[in-house]
Amino acid sequence: MTEISSGFGNRTRSFSESKIFAREKTCRYLFTMLRLINRAIAIGSLILLSACATAPTSAVKNTTKTFTTVVVDAGHGGKDSGAYRRYGPPEKLVTLDVAQRLDRKLRESQMKTVMTRSSDVFIPLDERVRIENGQKNAVFVSIHFNDSRRRGIHGFETYYHSGVSFELASLIQAKLITIPHSANRGIHTANFRVLRLATCPAILVECGFLSNRSEGNQARDWEYRELLADRIAEAIVEQRYGAGVYRGSTQVTAQSQSASMGQEPAPSAAVHH
Ligand SMILES: [Zn+2]
Repeated sequence: MTEISSGFGNRTRSFSESKIFAREKTCRYLFTMLRLINRAIAIGSLILLSACATAPTSAVKNTTKTFTTVVVDAGHGGKDSGAYRRYGPPEKLVTLDVAQRLDRKLRESQMKTVMTRSSDVFIPLDERVRIENGQKNAVFVSIHFNDSRRRGIHGFETYYHSGVSFELASLIQAKLITIPHSANRGIHTANFRVLRLATCPAILVECGFLSNRSEGNQARDWEYRELLADRIAEAIVEQRYGAGVYRGSTQVTAQSQSASMGQEPAPSAAVHH
């Protein structure tokens, strides 16, 4: 309001000056109007911008420091084999195995887990999203293995969609690349359905390339899959409780020994508390 009144301030001018003053007044009035219009446009676009910025993420709850449940998603399954290349086993089998190992480690760390599948069955993506968003205070972690026509390509990649998922994606990637001889292919955003439609922090991890001789062969090795699960579990526990809390690493050797004696734990059920 002060902008408008300032243009009509001086009332003590002589008659001879009045013509010039009138012109000046018109100019100042126009100038003031322009400034007001500019301001209105600026405010309007600010409102629009903030609406645009918040719209896609407003539905995502940031539970990264409070979550009690981890939704563990084994990629593919049933009629959907996923990547199926010369060196590696079918992707659907290794994703399930890593997911089950991850599930067990998280429960050992006193976390609730929900698995989108715990056997070799086909689960549509929308059903996975329904399970993912059916949890009140959760994060979502999807396990995949990668594939490329170029056999030389190898390394870990982690994907996310909402900004609140970035920290968890970074932690998982950072833990995975501590595995000896691993390659860091970075953290990326992606429009994958299970990430885009998630209402909680959600990430998808590509645990190496089945199309690569070395990583494909490693994926066949259960000890290596145990290591993958251990690093991912460590990242999830650290995201929730901070660094140094995870105690799973020491259990890897113990579990490895019992498993090599043919005492693999039974496959886990779909929902755990
Ligand atoms: Zn996949």
